[in-house]
Amino acid sequence: MLFVQKFGGSSVATPDHIRRVAQKVKATLDEGHQVVVVVSAMGDTTDELVAKAEAVSDTRSGREMDVLLSTGEIQSTALMAMALEALGVPARSFTGRDAGILTDFDHGRARILAVHPQKLQEALAAGVTPVVAGFQGVNARDDVTTLGRGGSDLTAIALASALKADRCEIYSDVAGVFTADPRVVPAAVPLAQLSYDEMLELASQGAQVLQTQAVDYARGNGVVIHARSTFQDAPGTIIDHRGAATNQAVTAVALNKRIAKIGLKGVPDAPGVAAHLFEKLARHGINIDLVIQSLSHEQLNDIAFTVALDDAEAAERLSREALEELKGQGLVVDRNVAKVSAVGSGLLGRPGVAARLFRALADAGVNIQMIGTSEIKISCIIAREQAEVALSAIHEAFGLHESGRLETD
Ligand code: ASP
Ligand code: MG
Repeated sequence: MLFVQKFGGSSVATPDHIRRVAQKVKATLDEGHQVVVVVSAMGDTTDELVAKAEAVSDTRSGREMDVLLSTGEIQSTALMAMALEALGVPARSFTGRDAGILTDFDHGRARILAVHPQKLQEALAAGVTPVVAGFQGVNARDDVTTLGRGGSDLTAIALASALKADRCEIYSDVAGVFTADPRVVPAAVPLAQLSYDEMLELASQGAQVLQTQAVDYARGNGVVIHARSTFQDAPGTIIDHRGAATNQAVTAVALNKRIAKIGLKGVPDAPGVAAHLFEKLARHGINIDLVIQSLSHEQLNDIAFTVALDDAEAAERLSREALEELKGQGLVVDRNVAKVSAVGSGLLGRPGVAARLFRALADAGVNIQMIGTSEIKISCIIAREQAEVALSAIHEAFGLHESGRLETD
């Protein structure tokens, strides 16, 4: 079988870690399989490179940032290839360009357009184990691009798809996807299986196990992802189109504390008001998440929405502008909020789940400020200081501490 095995930054943080990962790769090879290894930059290398760039310039071109950031992963490839060779395994490092990863021109968050993995296939055919630098590709001008933070996941999934690999294993320091972040909810347990859609919701809700774009790519190309722990022997989590065959309404809960809430009070109840506000935000590249508009009263509406905390300042400024232009009555900005979400394919067409969640929050003394729902998600905006309590309450109300290991049929 052909395996793609991706190792995250904490799995290759030191030379010692790299030697242990090399042993692990060798163990798979010794079972008679072929492996394409994908590596992230060592430990916090990428953050350190970003800090250095910030220290030399306020205006950093996307091209130079990508040249700089791509070097983190390249270091890891050469070291990993050496560590494999030291174990007697013929190995060879490949940059994103060498691996044939072609992207668009969007520096810093490029999308993969095509993968031409001939060089990797030649290496495999010659009995050489390729070690590929994650997180990078090359655009049609032959400039290096990077795939967004966490983008080595995407590299691994794109290669698994292009090479028609039998398995795509994403190794990190956690034992897969949990029913909640175990640092917040100690009762959280690893999930045996979940669907792409559930994983996408969890990833965009702030669960940081896998890059969102990578999960989306896997869904689009039918790549089954196996998220596992590098140094712990645990079964990990399978992510595919089926998800778990359980009759649970909720699969997992997620918490995002890096958000802010902004509300415009008393704007006219007329066509074009919401469009005016949100077009302004969109023009400045600000993503909005939950939106509520109140029932109108006296031809006036209140509109509230949430944004990432990093965008709060810009969103506040633009909202104030819009408020004045619309002759609204006031602006509310709250930077002390959090979002708790319950995610599960089992929510589809099942009445009463939202009520159960609201009851759990009420019993925990948590006030709900905003509510948003999709087919497989219910989110509530609450005070940030109650975030942990709220998450644990929902986790318990849906019995998630005993749901993790459910088998599939
Ligand atoms: N090194 C990059 C990052 O820290 C990519 C990755 O680790 O996947 O975001
Ligand atoms: Mg990562």
